[in-house]
Amino acid sequence: MSQQVYQRVALIGLGLIASSMFWAIKRGGLVGEVTGYARSAETRDTARRIGLCDRVCDSAAEAVEGADLVVLCVPVGAMGPVMEQIRDALKPGATVSDVGSVKGHVIDVVAPLIPEGVHFVPAHPLAGTEHSGPESGFAELFDNRWSLLVPVEGSDPQAVARLRALWEGMGAHVDEMDADHHDLVLAVTSHAPHLIAYTMVGVADDLRRVTDSEVIKYSAAGFRDFTRIAASDPTMWRDVFLTNKEATLEILGRFTEELFALQRAIRTGDGDHLHDYFTRTRAIRRGIIEAGQDTAAPNFGRTSE
Ligand code: NAP
Repeated sequence: MSQQVYQRVALIGLGLIASSMFWAIKRGGLVGEVTGYARSAETRDTARRIGLCDRVCDSAAEAVEGADLVVLCVPVGAMGPVMEQIRDALKPGATVSDVGSVKGHVIDVVAPLIPEGVHFVPAHPLAGTEHSGPESGFAELFDNRWSLLVPVEGSDPQAVARLRALWEGMGAHVDEMDADHHDLVLAVTSHAPHLIAYTMVGVADDLRRVTDSEVIKYSAAGFRDFTRIAASDPTMWRDVFLTNKEATLEILGRFTEELFALQRAIRTGDGDHLHDYFTRTRAIRRGIIEAGQDTAAPNFGRTSE
């Protein structure tokens, strides 16, 4: 049964997250009309061709006109400049939200640009793939995944509740968190792991030259999973590291200490240390599966090799 949450929603930026939101919104019948805008004519043309958004506009200001909810779906470093383009066109009483992977920085640059009478409720869906662009989205992306709302001081409870209803309608579970906590948690669960994957793939690529491409040819599951993560959008991830600097550096510092301890255990033949460590990490994996956030199927449920 359809349950309309907003009359009109504008999606600014039409990549993986925005296109998935559009298809999930349509699936749930959650919004009367969805407008969309992307900066390049190429993306706008693609969106029109595949029916992404009810109306694709040629300016961000036109897209947000009359919208009850505006969602900024651009890289974190582009949130401020995009906000500058739309601020004068926002409808009084509208809510501005975003889906950026870093919250502290987005709040710092966007909140001061929010006009009087407009609500600001930052958000971050913890769902994604290594693909990007308008054709990469799908309605199920947020099903059973978390979407975190990060209300700022003075956020209107009704505006927060309505955004929560939209995310729930798109299939997500919703939690609220403050920005600093969000950025630290994400540094541990997403940002540092991405940097480690980028590094591992970079090291393998350097080695490839001495192993005559065997690294690629015989790439085993562990390395292949690193390459999938390291194929993520370069602009998005550059912005994540530039804007979640402190938390990422804090986690990388801890990571380096642990890595040195494991390195030392290998050097000194301390099997107990290694075994205890791997037993603890295995339990974490079990916890993730029990929480319904991944599959226990071998090889992440891949059916073909
Ligand atoms: P995406 O597929 O790469 O799409 C990005 C969109 O932003 C495109 O429409 C692009 O326009 C536009 N854009 C890029 N740079 C811009 C700029 N400087 N000014 C204006 N528009 C610009 O990205 P995405 O994966 O949907 O990510 C969007 C946001 O969601 C990011 O803030 C990211 O941190 C966050 N997020 C991503 C994931 C994930 O796993 N991918 C998960 C959760 C949250 P053109 O197409 O015209 O270039």
